[in-house]
Amino acid sequence: RVKDGGRGSFAFFQAEMDRDLRRRRALEREVRMAPGRGELSLAWQPQAETGTGEITGFDALLRWRHPERGDVPPDVFISVAEASGAIIPIGHWVLRTACLEAASWPRPLRVAVNVSALQVQQPDFPAQVARVLAETGLEAVRLDLEITETLLIHDTERALETLRALKALGLRLSLDDFGTGYSSLGTLRAFPFDKLKIDRSFVRQMTEDGPCGGMVRAILGLSRAMALPVVAEGVETEAQRALLGAALCEEMQGYLIGRPQPIEAFDELVGRSEAAARGAA
Ligand code: C2E
Ligand code: MG
Ligand code: MG
Repeated sequence: RVKDGGRGSFAFFQAEMDRDLRRRRALEREVRMAPGRGELSLAWQPQAETGTGEITGFDALLRWRHPERGDVPPDVFISVAEASGAIIPIGHWVLRTACLEAASWPRPLRVAVNVSALQVQQPDFPAQVARVLAETGLEAVRLDLEITETLLIHDTERALETLRALKALGLRLSLDDFGTGYSSLGTLRAFPFDKLKIDRSFVRQMTEDGPCGGMVRAILGLSRAMALPVVAEGVETEAQRALLGAALCEEMQGYLIGRPQPIEAFDELVGRSEAAARGAA
């Protein structure tokens, strides 16, 4: 009896695992077809100066609406697309679409584009970026590439070379989700980043009176020593904004400033409504 039960539950888990695998395979196949089927879009989230509240630019965040599954969260489909390599064409779509959009704004605000380590590791990545800039007409200084620490830990030498080639195009580099990875102070200093983005997990804990308020201050102290401005992610409350302001954190991004939305929600901020009003007058 015990033996049967054991075999039964093994079969059960086997079936579960088969189902998970099939689901993942289906997702892999579907995410690869998403760009061609017009299922991808960008949501835009404003970034602002902490002191003045002035909007400095927007983070372009990828969205996937599947015809049957509905909205699939980026945290789910991006890792699937990375595992299958589909992130490379998808990432190219994001870069092109984001630059094209930003180039059309009357106000020269910045656009932050998230790039996967896998994309950056493509030998011709800097050339691809240069081509997208040339084709879309976006000024390089307005482009900010957000890169996570995973890029820095494998083949550090080559990563450094690539980042230098990207910098030579005139764009900016931000280290995203800082504090969640493994980069050491030494590697950080060796890489040509222009900005650090403090992961929202630290910001969230800042007002919860735990040791992480100290973490945020420590990261700010460290970035100041390296002369790197900091963007705090996931700012949701006035209390967080006040603490970040007092700690002289340069920029903020989060629901308090604005949720990620279709660009049409920000026509006024990008200067489109003024342009339309002038055109009508
Ligand atoms: P991220 O680059 O750190 O982007 C910020 C994430 O935090 C976004 O999640 C945004 O919706 C969320 N967020 C912003 N403000 C707040 C807040 O106040 N509170 C909370 N709780 N969350 C906030 P999203 O859009 O789900 O994206 C998740 C991650 O997926 C991104 O994190 C980024 O790493 C990745 N991602 C998004 N688009 C792309 C892309 O085009 N390419 C690549 N490679 N990765 C992308
Ligand atoms: Mg980001
Ligand atoms: Mg982040």
